[in-house]
Amino acid sequence: MDLNTVETYRVAHSRAELVLAPGERVVAGGTWLFSEPAEPAAEHTGLVDLTAMGWPALEYSDAGLRIGATCTIAELADIPRREGWAAHPLFAQCANALLASWKIWNVATVGGNVCRSYAAAGMVSLCVALDGVAEVWTPDGGGYRVPVADLVTGNGTNNLAPGEVLRALELPAHALRARTAFRKIALAALGRSGAVLTGRVDEDGSAVFTITAATAWPTVLRYPSVPDAATLRAAVDAADGYYDDALGVADWRRAVSGVLLEEIRVELISP
Ligand SMILES: Cc1cc2nc3c(=O)[nH]c(=O)nc-3n(C[C@H](O)[C@H](O)[C@H](O)COP(=O)(O)OP(=O)(O)OC[C@H]3O[C@@H](n4cnc5c(N)ncnc54)[C@H](O)[C@@H]3O)c2cc1C
Repeated sequence: MDLNTVETYRVAHSRAELVLAPGERVVAGGTWLFSEPAEPAAEHTGLVDLTAMGWPALEYSDAGLRIGATCTIAELADIPRREGWAAHPLFAQCANALLASWKIWNVATVGGNVCRSYAAAGMVSLCVALDGVAEVWTPDGGGYRVPVADLVTGNGTNNLAPGEVLRALELPAHALRARTAFRKIALAALGRSGAVLTGRVDEDGSAVFTITAATAWPTVLRYPSVPDAATLRAAVDAADGYYDDALGVADWRRAVSGVLLEEIRVELISP
C-alpha cells in the first residue's frame, strides 16, 4: 500500500454519505486501490468505503439478475444455476479469466473490477457478453443506466464522472437464457488475459460475439443470426482498439481473436 496522502477513511452507510468531499474517492474491495501508488497521489486525501452500504449481492427477478456493485467476484463465480439459465457457465469462466488468487477473488468486487476498467477485466467481459447495464448514482441524488459496453472507454478508463458511484449491474433474462461459448488466451500460463472472446445465441436466433482484453475497450458484434465464417472474420479484422503491451502485441491479439471467435462460432452452430 502506498497511499501516503490519505488522511481520512470513512465508511458510508447511506446514499447521503456517498457524496464525496474534495479529495475523496470510493474504495470497495481495495485490492487494486491498495496495491499500487495512487495516481496522482496528491489528489487523494480521503477514502469512502462502500462495503457497509448493505447492497444485496444478487437479486433475481423475471427481468434477470441485478448484481450489487459490492458483490465479490467469488460470490458471483459461485452463483447457483437457475432453471433456464443456459448462460450460467459464463460466470465462472469470466471470473477465472482474471489473473487473481483465491484471496483476491474473495475481496475484490464486481463493481470495482468494472470501475477499474482494465481491458482484461473479467467482469466487463461477463457484462458485455450478456448485454449488461450499469446503474450509476450521481452526486446530486439522481442516476442513470448505461450499457457496460459503452461505459468502458479504454484500458483503464471509463465514462464515470467524478463522484459517480456504480450501484449495480443488471443482466437481462433474455441473455441469461442464451447459449454461450467462451475462450481465453494469455501469453503465459498464469498471465493476465491477452484476449477474452465470447459468443451468444439468443432464443430468437440472434447472435452476439464480443472481444475483450484484446481490444482496449469492449468490441461487440451483433447479427440477426449466426454469421458465416468469412463475415465474422472480416468484422474481427476490422475492429478498432487492438493494442500492444507486455502481455501481447496488437497483431497477435487480432489474430487470436479471429481464430478463437471462429471456434466459438462453430461451437454455437454445432448440435
Ligand atoms: C493480484 C491481482 C491480480 C489482478 N488481476 C487482474 C486481472 O487479471 N484483470 C483485471 O482487469 N484486473 C486485475 N486486477 C486489478 C483488479 O481490477 C482489481 O484488483 C479488482 O477487480 C478491483 O476490485 P476492488 O473491489 O478491490 O476495487 P478497489 O481496489 O476498491 O477499487 C478499484 C477502483 O474502482 C473504484 N471503484 C470501486 N468500486 C466502485 C464503485 N462501486 N463505483 C465507482 N467507483 C468504484 C475505486 O475508486 C478504484 O478507483 C488484479 C489485482 C490484483 C491485486
